Amino acid sequence: MKPVHYDKCPLCLSEKTDSYLRVKDHFLSKEEFDIFRCDDCGFLFTQDHPGENAISDYYKSEEYLSHNDRTRSLSALLYRIVRSLMLNRKLGIVKRFSGLNSGTLLDIGSGSGHFVSFMKVKGWRVSGIEINMKAREESSQKFDIQIFDPAQISILASGSFDCITLWHSLEHFQDPFKYAGEIKRLLKPEGVCVLALPNSASCDAQYYREFWGAWDVPRHLWHFNPDTFRAFSEKSGFTLIDTLSLPLDVFYISTLSEKYRSSGLYFISGIIKGIWFSLLSAFKKERRSSMIYILGK
Ligand SMILES: [Zn+2]
Repeated sequence: MKPVHYDKCPLCLSEKTDSYLRVKDHFLSKEEFDIFRCDDCGFLFTQDHPGENAISDYYKSEEYLSHNDRTRSLSALLYRIVRSLMLNRKLGIVKRFSGLNSGTLLDIGSGSGHFVSFMKVKGWRVSGIEINMKAREESSQKFDIQIFDPAQISILASGSFDCITLWHSLEHFQDPFKYAGEIKRLLKPEGVCVLALPNSASCDAQYYREFWGAWDVPRHLWHFNPDTFRAFSEKSGFTLIDTLSLPLDVFYISTLSEKYRSSGLYFISGIIKGIWFSLLSAFKKERRSSMIYILGK
């Protein structure tokens, strides 16, 4: 299978792009991939990635955290604790920016369905989109929620959602611009889109370099920071309403990065580093590990 190569920056179409960092797929294949940087706009992207037809091989792991609840490693346990703490924060964000206590919500990249089922309990009319067939079937049965295949997005009615959420999923999409167009079509005129993304300009990304847990190549194709995300949202015709952060993500990412760096006590050192990065970025939101972007039409 031929890898997907970009001669131009996928964001600003400049031809001035160069290798920025060579990163190993620590999680699964142990293959190495190049992250390229655009000289003009600073956008970082995974060069020569496997492409739509071959990428599923890189998700074939029982440990893939977004889709699995059974692993007992410390980082998986930490991930689950952080996830439950975050559900209420996510609900608060959706309510605050949609201005609604309940409404229609579409979660793109719904994974094991924890967020959509939580929102359903809170009175929202929810549906999801998930690429992993097993996760899609299990979550729709378990929670009695309609979860669609990404290819079905075009059948959803225009202007039908008060809120569309993407918690760490846009960075996985082969064509984020096409998806942004669909999101815009599906939102009501006053609807909002809430996206969470790793921040490649964060303190932890700069400290860990090639061992940073959130590069996650070749599953992550686009490595946004607040500046390049602003450019992406403008190019896609959205208004960037606000930028927030997910403060607990840094502990998960630091623990994962310490593990990739082969630190024996990766759990402890990840927590300590997480506290350190939180202090460093306390007054610099744009340097935090994960960002939340709020988009309006
Ligand atoms: Zn560019």
